[in-house]
Amino acid sequence: MKCTDMLAMLNDFVDGTIDPSICAEFERHLAGCNPCQVVVDNIRQTITLYQNGQPYELPAQFRQQLHTALRARWKETHRTADTNP
Ligand SMILES: [Zn+2]
Repeated sequence: MKCTDMLAMLNDFVDGTIDPSICAEFERHLAGCNPCQVVVDNIRQTITLYQNGQPYELPAQFRQQLHTALRARWKETHRTADTNP
């Protein structure tokens, strides 16, 4: 899996609809890729803050904002790491 593959699946990850088998690949890539870790940590923190003890159901508008925000974050962290495995 490459960083760009991760980016393609981030929406599913945010929405909680990611396939479990893909999720395993996802985690494997994360373990060895710092720029991706930074982005995903950001997402997890944001979701945790939002959840605040409530069921995991993000409103469409919030998801849209999160998708946009994580892409901006992605560009920051991957600006010099385009060729990372
Ligand atoms: Zn990566």
